[in-house]
Amino acid sequence: MQLWMDGELLQPGKASASPLAHALHYGTGVFEGIRAYETEEGPAIFRLDEHLERLGRGAAALDMPVDLELLGRGCLEALAASGLESAYLRPLAFYETGGLGLDVAGLKLRHFVAALPWKNHLGDPASTGVRVRTSPWRRNPAGALPPLKLCGNYVNSILAKLEATKAGFEEALFVDGEGRVVECTGENVFMVKDGQIIAVHHGDALPGITRATVMELRACQERPVTLAELKQADEVFVTGTSAEITPVAALDERQWTVGHVTRELQARYQDIVHGRSESHRAWLTPFSMASVS
Ligand code: PMP
Repeated sequence: MQLWMDGELLQPGKASASPLAHALHYGTGVFEGIRAYETEEGPAIFRLDEHLERLGRGAAALDMPVDLELLGRGCLEALAASGLESAYLRPLAFYETGGLGLDVAGLKLRHFVAALPWKNHLGDPASTGVRVRTSPWRRNPAGALPPLKLCGNYVNSILAKLEATKAGFEEALFVDGEGRVVECTGENVFMVKDGQIIAVHHGDALPGITRATVMELRACQERPVTLAELKQADEVFVTGTSAEITPVAALDERQWTVGHVTRELQARYQDIVHGRSESHRAWLTPFSMASVS
């Protein structure tokens, strides 16, 4: 593991932030989950620019003057110093000291990146699929919290995840008051019906980068989907930086075996992230000493 803060690589155990950090009390930070993969030319970061751009949108919502270039450099420096071939990168910008009022003007801003060894947060469901339960919790409505990676938004995901795992499932699916599918706690949702791939659309869902990747790779219909319709699909899969393309093996009482459209997309995605697809090399930021010197 390698930590980086405000432009400096940190020795193990040397990271520090105040317990009065505004973000700790109110969730006033913005983060990303990014992955670096092993390629023939060494480790490369997948869709770094898109992740930084989304972080920037979250920062703008909080009026946070984030230095995206600095954070991008932090990602490359932390990855390089970690010595990891493949890694999970966690950039985070957060308000620290300066007051505990709800006015954020003038608060100290910290820029942080961690490069961690990779571990799939859903276990290892790429082959067998993940077991999902419909959540009794509603997703944060976009009119109350923008669907971006603001730290505080994730309490909602954590409540749903807790409920689902206590019930013996691995993941939770958010459905809105009208029975329409929103997303999972950390993934977007797709279904396959009669050979057609459908990207579930919902205004309360995070605009996922893996979702956009799938939609750029395959012709997809993008539309709202009800829970009842999802359960009648031939295949269901979820997408996320961490989950990549993970088949859904069960949704409540409904079960599926992993379908060929999901399998084929998984293989294509692996080729791209590992730099084996000439046509999508631009999505990879290779680590090289030149880029961090
Ligand atoms: N929804 C939520 C709530 C998430 O946290 C994530 C993970 N970032 C996703 C969807 C998938 O987004 P991405 O493909 O950009 O990782």
